[in-house]
Amino acid sequence: MKIFLDPGHGGNNPGARGPNGIREADVNLDIALRTGRLLQSEGYSVRFSRVGDESVSLQRRAMLANEWGADYFVSIHCNSNINPIYTGTETFYYREGSVSESFALQVNTSLVAEIDTRDRGISQANFAVLRLTDMPAILVETAFISNPQEAALLAMPSFKQKCAIGISRGIITFTQ
Ligand SMILES: [Zn+2]
Repeated sequence: MKIFLDPGHGGNNPGARGPNGIREADVNLDIALRTGRLLQSEGYSVRFSRVGDESVSLQRRAMLANEWGADYFVSIHCNSNINPIYTGTETFYYREGSVSESFALQVNTSLVAEIDTRDRGISQANFAVLRLTDMPAILVETAFISNPQEAALLAMPSFKQKCAIGISRGIITFTQ
């Protein structure tokens, strides 16, 4: 089973920045690498769109997964809003009624169960990495980096490990 993990942003696109100064690109990569290690320890084959602070276009992320023949694609992000009051976890998929939609629900549910954030549920979204990938594909927004409390959590290695446990558990549950 081949899982392609896509840490959002990187390089010249650091993504959102927390009130505590953390950068979304760094948090996404940390969580993705932790998720990959957990999946590999369960026998999964894992590839990443990036393993450092590199610029990778959205088209290239999808192409790398397609060329590898990944079975599932998981993009990992932090949410952000100009209003710092927003909190919680949500997951996006592209096509209504698709395997991606059920996959999104499983991963979102497993993640919320592990990190105990507000469950914002799953939603349809026309994101390039979801639209351009050939396999079931989801985009996970772990928590809001724009919220001071959640940004403080996203700065903690223990919380990022919990995110990885929740995401990997969702993937394992769905694919077994
Ligand atoms: Zn992002």
